[in-house]
Amino acid sequence: MSTGSVRPRLAVWKFSSCDGCQLSLLDCEDELLALAGAVDIAYFLEATRAEVAGPYDLSLVEGSITTAHDVERIREVRRQSKVLVTIGACATSGGIQALRNFSDVKAFTSIVYARPEYISTLATSTPISAHVPVDFELRGCPIQKRQLLEVVTAFLAHRKPVTPPHSVCMDCKIQGNVCVMVAHGTHCLGPVTHTGCGALCPTYDRGCYGCFGPKETPNAPALSAQLVQLGMSERSLHLVYRTFNANDPPFREEAERHAP
Ligand code: SF4
Ligand code: SF4
Repeated sequence: MSTGSVRPRLAVWKFSSCDGCQLSLLDCEDELLALAGAVDIAYFLEATRAEVAGPYDLSLVEGSITTAHDVERIREVRRQSKVLVTIGACATSGGIQALRNFSDVKAFTSIVYARPEYISTLATSTPISAHVPVDFELRGCPIQKRQLLEVVTAFLAHRKPVTPPHSVCMDCKIQGNVCVMVAHGTHCLGPVTHTGCGALCPTYDRGCYGCFGPKETPNAPALSAQLVQLGMSERSLHLVYRTFNANDPPFREEAERHAP
C-alpha cells in the first residue's frame, strides 16, 4: 500500500528484546507528535497496526538475533532500508540473553519452559551488526529518549548524530557529582561505560553497572585492578561484566580474564 506521502518513511522493528527501547520512542510524548508530522510512520507494530510496505528511509531495529528466522528477517529488513540504526543493548551487543553464549542454551530452555521441545532457538544471541551492515548504533538498556530523537533528527537532516563516545565519568564531572568510587569506595563501572544516561546512578550515590556498554577504547583491566583494591572478589569481577552487554568484546574479554 502506498500513502503517496513525500515524508521519509520510518520503520521500527523488533527482534529478541523486551520492547523497552521501543517504549522509549513512545515515551517521547510531546516530541512524538512533531516526529509523527516529520516522518511517515510506516511500520511500528508497538504503536500502530498499519503496515505500509517498504522500502523505508530509516529503520530502527531493537533486539538481537536468536533464531534462524531472525537471521532471514534482518536480511530482508536491511534490503528494505536505506538507513538502518540499531537501538539498545540487545541490538548492539546481544543483550542479557547473550548470557547463553557462555553456557548451554538447552540447559536454560529445559529450566524455563514446561515443553522445551517446542523451542526452536540458536545457541547464541548476537548483535544485528554480526549479520548485516549497520549505519549507526545507539547504546543503552534502554536507550535514552533524547539521544534517540537526536539520531532520528540527524538522519532526517542528513547529518551525523551528536552522541559523544566518552565515559560516564565525564558525565559525573559535567554534573558536578562527587565520585562514589573515590569518596565512598563504591564499585562503579563508570570509567569504562559509554555515556548517554547523564551519570544517572552516581547522581543518586550508586555505582554504575554498565548498562550503556563499553565506551570507546575502555581500559577495563585498569578498572578491574582498582575494583580488586576496593575488595571485589574474582568471582564478582567476572559477574560485574556479565550483564546487559556481556557479549560486547571489551566486557566479554574482561569477564573471561576473571573466569572462576
Ligand atoms: S562515580 Fe563512577 S562514573 Fe562517576 S566519576 Fe566516579 S567512577 Fe566515574
Ligand atoms: S548503570 Fe551506568 S550507564 Fe546505566 S543508567 Fe546507571 S550510570 Fe548510566
